Amino acid sequence: MKDPNCPTCDQTRDRRHRLCPACWRSLPASTRGRLALRDRRAPLRQQQLRAQLRDHTPVQLIRVSR
Ligand SMILES: [Zn+2]
Repeated sequence: MKDPNCPTCDQTRDRRHRLCPACWRSLPASTRGRLALRDRRAPLRQQQLRAQLRDHTPVQLIRVSR
């Protein structure tokens, strides 16, 4: 099975992440830190990330809630 592609640059991405390593590093540090948290609001943050990717928000501007 083919690896999924990164939604912003079309490069192959890691299955565990929604973005390829380069785009993941382009996220604001605060966003990355929040997405790495594993608490009960983690699914909500994933949903916020997906929505912004779908709306073509530039990766550098993507924010998720605390
Ligand atoms: Zn990418």
